[in-house]
This record gives sequence, C-alpha cells and structure tokens, in this order.
Amino acid sequence: MLHAAGLALELNALSHELDARLTQTLVEAFRCHDGLDEVAYVAAYRQCARYDLRHRQLDLVDQLGQDLQRLVPKPFIHTALKLARGPARLAGLGELHRFLDTGFHAFRHMGADAGTFVTTVVGRERAILERIRAGHPMPLEIAPSRAGMARLFELQRERAAARQADQERRPTDATAEVADSKHCGAGSATVTVDPFGNVYPCVQWRRRVGNLHEQSIQTIWRQSRELAEVRRLAVDVKQAISQHGPLGVGFCPGLAEQETGDPPGLYPAARRLLELRQPPAG
Ligand code: SF4
Repeated sequence: MLHAAGLALELNALSHELDARLTQTLVEAFRCHDGLDEVAYVAAYRQCARYDLRHRQLDLVDQLGQDLQRLVPKPFIHTALKLARGPARLAGLGELHRFLDTGFHAFRHMGADAGTFVTTVVGRERAILERIRAGHPMPLEIAPSRAGMARLFELQRERAAARQADQERRPTDATAEVADSKHCGAGSATVTVDPFGNVYPCVQWRRRVGNLHEQSIQTIWRQSRELAEVRRLAVDVKQAISQHGPLGVGFCPGLAEQETGDPPGLYPAARRLLELRQPPAG
C-alpha cells in the first residue's frame, strides 16, 4: 500500500509539472487562450518536450496499475482507505487520497480486465510519444494494427459461436427469434426507442417501425408491418452478403441502408472490412 502511495505521489507531482510546462507553452508561445487543436498541441508538446520524463510518467502509470491490481482483491484495503480519508485530508494529502480511492474503485470494477486496460493505454501512449518525437505529421491518430484486427475478428467469431450455442439452449418466442437465417438481431432481439417515443429496429437501423405514444410496445413488437419487413430484410441481407465470402460479422444493414439506401449495399467501411479480411497475398 505504501509503495502504491509513493508511486501515486510521484506520478501526481510529475504530471502537474509536465502539464504546467505544456500549458505555459501553449498560452505564451502559441497564443492558445480560447481553444486548442491537434496541430498547436503537438507543436507545443515538441517545443517543451522532456521525453525522458514522459517515459518516466508512463513507467509510473504501469507500475501503479500493477500495484493496484495486486492490492484490490485484499479484503482489508477498502477499510484502510476509508479510515485514511480523514487523516489524509488533515495532512494536506486529500487529493492524493482521492486519486488512490478512485483508482481502487475503477480497478475493482474492471476485475481481470484491468491488466489489459493498463497495458493497452500505456502501449498506445508510448507509441504516440515516439511518433511525436519522430516528427510524424499526425502523431495522435491511432490506427489498429493488422494483428489487432485479426484478434478482433477471432473474438467476434468466438462470441458469435457462444451466442449461437446459447440460443440453441433457450426457448424462443416466434417474433423474437433470431434465427440462423438472419444476419443480425435488429428488430428481432432488440429495438431502440428515441426520446420522442419513436421505435427503431436498432440504434443503427433508423427505420421507424412505430411510436409508443400511439401503440404499446407489445403491439408494435407483434403487429408492426414495418418491423416484420425488417425481420424479413435481415434474412435477405444474410443471403446477399454471403456472396462476399469473409464479410459477415461486422457488416451492418442499418448503416448500409443509411449510406447506400439498400440494407445489403456495400458501404465504404464494409468495403474496407472486406479488404482487411482477405487473406494476405502469398
Ligand atoms: S448489425 Fe447493425 S443493424 Fe444489425 S444489430 Fe448490429 S448495429 Fe444493429
């Protein structure tokens, strides 16, 4: 616990020092009084950069993350933090206590994913830092790597298989059934309601199928002709896009309708997805 508090103290002080220097450069050298854009931010960052200290800052985040992950499961830690709140405030360390307390709560909610979260954030920040140092023209842009996309598709396939196994075990309502023949559950597994009571098959599929001020959700769910049409289209879409081979999970008929006017239409992001899913040549 003391080790984590020491790291938090150093991280806090270092972050304040680096942020103060950057803010001063932005205001004095770049005249950023009312707003900020990426170009000014990166230029100011380069002008006052202390890359060694920025790397130290990320080392501290990494170590503190590991410490918190190790400490969170311990049963006494939350009581100890609660008891320390008053004395910390009296000793002028209230901000540090709040920082640690917030960190503990966040890590407790993340559970086993906390390690991945810290590794991902630190890895991305280091990559950005190196792109700033190397003079990259758009250093803050983060693009997924090919390996990252491959992993995402693998996870999507695993989840789709788990969902299918789960559906096979569950009894189904004829209207709610997400049959194997449908591309997705828009209008079959879910609907979306906007602040005016309009009902849509999905947050992405903006085709109005009813309004809660005119009919009950049960009537819309069971009798809406528009919703029945969407369920039929979900079947057509599955058949239509099967001709594109690896395109499947990730294709969105709602987005397709918005961008091409046709639920199975190939919109630009779907074309890019298809390209990424083609096996590498050779
Ligand atoms: S694929 Fe698109 S339309 Fe279908 S459920 Fe997902 S977001 Fe909604």
